[in-house]
Amino acid sequence: MQETKVVLPDREIPRQWYNIMADMPNLPKPPLHPGTKQPVGPQDLSAIFPMALIEQEVSTQRWIDIPEEVLNIYSLWRPSPLYRAHRLEAALGTPAKIYYKYEGVSPAGSHKPNTSIPQAFYNKQAGVKRIATETGAGQWGSSMALAGTMFGLDVTVYMVNISYKQKPYRRIAMETWGATVHPSPSPFTNYGRKILEMDPDNPGSLGMAISEAVEDAASHDDTNYALGSVLNHVILHQSVIGLESKKQFELVGDYPDVIIGCCGGGSNLGGVAFPFLQDKINGKQLRVIAVEPSSCPTLTKGEFRYDFGDTAGMTPLMMMYTLGHDFMPPGIHAGGLRYHADSQLVCQLYHDKLIEAVAYGQTAVFEAAIQFSRTEGIIPAPESAHAIKGAIDEALKAKEEGRQKTIFFNLSGHGYLDLAAYADYLAGKLEDYEYPETMIREALKKLPVV
Ligand SMILES: *Cc1c(COP(=O)(O)O)cnc(C)c1O
Repeated sequence: MQETKVVLPDREIPRQWYNIMADMPNLPKPPLHPGTKQPVGPQDLSAIFPMALIEQEVSTQRWIDIPEEVLNIYSLWRPSPLYRAHRLEAALGTPAKIYYKYEGVSPAGSHKPNTSIPQAFYNKQAGVKRIATETGAGQWGSSMALAGTMFGLDVTVYMVNISYKQKPYRRIAMETWGATVHPSPSPFTNYGRKILEMDPDNPGSLGMAISEAVEDAASHDDTNYALGSVLNHVILHQSVIGLESKKQFELVGDYPDVIIGCCGGGSNLGGVAFPFLQDKINGKQLRVIAVEPSSCPTLTKGEFRYDFGDTAGMTPLMMMYTLGHDFMPPGIHAGGLRYHADSQLVCQLYHDKLIEAVAYGQTAVFEAAIQFSRTEGIIPAPESAHAIKGAIDEALKAKEEGRQKTIFFNLSGHGYLDLAAYADYLAGKLEDYEYPETMIREALKKLPVV
């Protein structure tokens, strides 16, 4: 019988997170205060984050201990399995070996609880009573709702209005875990009220929902804010994915030539790849590929400069590849990849050519998702399907070149709450949307000058 998956026992859950900031050839430029444009200090962030997370945000320490309370909850689904995609390899007729790490085994169905759990833990420890956060399609909101219920924190989620209407199942999951969900823009913040006055049917966007959640947290003493991607401490928490994978590859005596992850804000890509990138920085041959949608082509078409993380311009300015903070991405089905910028760590490493990037249209991505479902069985999240498409392309290239190689991708989540997207694809209703260069140029013109 062939071996298909590598499973580690609970005691092999990593005890420390890996921080790439200890090993990067160039650190990202410091985040700037949105008003003064001076570097932000810990006190600027303390209105919305607990000190433990602020310390992690700026830490350059290579290893950071994972608290026991977090490990105990991680053990509900971690270590996650590493699979060898035998049946996909056979279907492609490739000489390449394809592996994937499956993060869909978490209760929320994606990698996001790897960070929502520690974020809830540190907030609880700091005496915070409530978390305000945003969600696009609902993946992050449901992960935060799950973490809130585990640690006894109230969770308020500002959910992008159009998803709130079109994707009831994620909202129901959040409510099942005890969270309160508002469609955004909402009447509960100044920013939301301002938008609703001008446009009562505004479909909302992730940037707007972030502005509302930040305002809510900043204006209530017992409330903090939590972000599901982009920030350094989020990428730090996600390093458990790559650290486990390294042990699993060791067990099968293999090592990836290429690591592929879809990239929305960069957290699952950073999580799976950074522990391996440490080896690359130390001289090992390895490629890392970020896959993004061609409708929101942050790395492949954006500019590397300071921009806000939200639409209203309330967050610190960060040095990122960006399409402009009021960029309105089209309504593609991979909601988790519709963000105007990316983690400053991913951006700096891309700038320093340690990471590559490719962009695909959603029909090609769904074709890959269907081929994966019909060979490996799991129906992937539309976001994760971008990584599958990247892996299939690499495997077909290996076939053309007649070369053995080891391809590894992160399957960041399952798609069982995204079946409406599959229904559209199967009915031939999906459209590709190439974001026009001229509109990107327009959005970039409005960026703050630093
Ligand atoms: C949110 C999400 C993503 C995108 O976020 P990253 O921070 O880029 O990882 C990718 N896949 C799934 C399943 C998600 O829920």
